[in-house]
Amino acid sequence: MRKPIIAGNWKMNLTAKEAIAFVEEVKNKIPSNDAVDSVIGAPALFLYPMVEAAKGSQLQLAAENCYFENNGAFTGENSPLAIADMGIQYVIIGHSERRDYFHETDEDINKKAKAILANGMTPIICCGESLEQRESGETNDWISGQIKAALEGLTAEQVANLVIAYEPIWAIGTGKSSDAQTANETCGVVRATVEELYGKEVAESVRIQYGGSVKPENIKEYMAEENIDGALVGGASLQPASYLALLDAV
Ligand code: PEP
Repeated sequence: MRKPIIAGNWKMNLTAKEAIAFVEEVKNKIPSNDAVDSVIGAPALFLYPMVEAAKGSQLQLAAENCYFENNGAFTGENSPLAIADMGIQYVIIGHSERRDYFHETDEDINKKAKAILANGMTPIICCGESLEQRESGETNDWISGQIKAALEGLTAEQVANLVIAYEPIWAIGTGKSSDAQTANETCGVVRATVEELYGKEVAESVRIQYGGSVKPENIKEYMAEENIDGALVGGASLQPASYLALLDAV
């Protein structure tokens, strides 16, 4: 039985003051971690005060990215060692916005996954196809290739415990969500790829989220599907009431 994981992805939104106000408002209303992992991915700038504000609550936090070295001459980057040291549990990597706008490669994402795991955190590894790829029937091969590249060199134990977010690029921030059956089929491709590489037990254990215009009104449809274990949510995670409604729907 895989525990659901609902993760907000704030992207480059809110200020530190707004972030702390958000945490103060939701922190005593988060369901128990025994039932669902409730995560917010926030800009690295204000993760530390968010950790402090969330202390003693069931709210977990994620960085939205990190570098793959722990320290050194990498001006402007964020160290996975420093992120873990703050008490952060997750790092989102390979989001399509980072791949498209910041030219992150599969190799970068693989190195980041290794660095995150080496620092005791859980990567949330994103994958997803463009509309052109979907329309030309390339989705399954593309997704499978992204997963194979991201997991290269990871152990079965590491893969069993990580989180993969399937996010069709055409559904992110567009209000045009994938229907639940199609999302489930493609999450099934992710699971089958993990099985091909690591066997059935690992594939049954890895948690797979759907992301792309998920909101309180539609989250139940996705959570009812067998290959979908949670959601990665952008826009609908920015308001406390909406974030809490997502958690309540699980
Ligand atoms: C995302 O940021 O990963 C995302 C899926 O955004 P939205 O929910 O706004 O589509």
